[in-house]
Amino acid sequence: MDGGVRPVAAVDQAHPTRYWTRLEDGRVRCDVCPRACALHEGQRGFCFVRARQGDEIVLTTYGRSSGFCVDPIEKKPLNHFLPGTSVLSFGTAGCNLGCRFCQNWDISKSREVDTLADAASPEGIAEAAERLGCRSVAFTYNDPVIFLEYAIDVADACRERGIKAVAVTAGYISPEPRRDFYAHMDAANVDLKAFTEDFYHRVCFGHLAPVLETLEYLKHETEVWFEITNLLIPDENDSDEEIDAMTRWVVERLGPDVPMHFTAFHPDFKMMDHPPTPPETLTRARRIALANGVRYAYTGNVSDVRGQSTYCHACGAVLIERDWYALGDWNLTPDGRCAACGARCAGVFEGEPGRWGARRLPVRLSAP
Ligand code: SF4
Repeated sequence: MDGGVRPVAAVDQAHPTRYWTRLEDGRVRCDVCPRACALHEGQRGFCFVRARQGDEIVLTTYGRSSGFCVDPIEKKPLNHFLPGTSVLSFGTAGCNLGCRFCQNWDISKSREVDTLADAASPEGIAEAAERLGCRSVAFTYNDPVIFLEYAIDVADACRERGIKAVAVTAGYISPEPRRDFYAHMDAANVDLKAFTEDFYHRVCFGHLAPVLETLEYLKHETEVWFEITNLLIPDENDSDEEIDAMTRWVVERLGPDVPMHFTAFHPDFKMMDHPPTPPETLTRARRIALANGVRYAYTGNVSDVRGQSTYCHACGAVLIERDWYALGDWNLTPDGRCAACGARCAGVFEGEPGRWGARRLPVRLSAP
């Protein structure tokens, strides 16, 4: 279905970037993420979308997208950020992690520019979001860290129209670009894939420490609203001990108000040999998180009203009833307090909930 948006011309795909260093051995190092790819002329980085051109690193996917879709904000997942509203979601191609279980591998592992079928300028995306009635735009499907120049320009264009910017990310980014990137974001969902260096190294070809640094940075040095997603894979990262250690760390270093989403894995990409996550695993993780002091813990990718509703941390009343992405009872005051006891619910709330529901609406921004 067409979003009713004016066609936009494709923009230059070799976009200049800031974060790189010329090395003495003649290579040019990309400084966007901890991978620090050092490139010879004509080479691309691990993420595939940043490449050396001349003596600089360029972004090759500026203004190109693998597709646009209007989603419920709960699908990002964000349960405490403008609940019930719609978000214009899009991604590009490539990724800076190499997760063997990737659930979006057709996009993240894409080596073909034809994945990037849709073209849109930042202004075109902001205009589309406004016309479609979206309260926010989300950089998702693949990690916006690797296309941060494009994401920042889109976020700025959206903010000028009062539309918020949401990053769905693994948080694998270096300190300087991290500051720049999050200065333009209003909310984020950060994927904390596990709580061991072994998992990050063996399954994602990355490291845990930079992700934890991003989480601490968001909490202590920004106003960005953020929630955490933890995808639980049977026998890989789902032990009581690991969930206990992770949730203790979250409460100790980030406080009790950061919502956590425990979501179900399904066999995909290079991890077809593991079974899907049983719903009991998600319930068990949620129980451990709550016992450790996480105030808002959710199950995801399953139908579970009890595990997906929001409860008042003070009196236990149901504040927002939720099943998958659909909202039910709403017991929050317009300024985000419990209607029963007045305790504040952490998050970003603006009066009444949105009425988008669980719909998913693909849209095309450029002319066919
Ligand atoms: S953003 Fe891409 S090119 Fe840059 S260091 Fe990370 S993986 Fe390498």
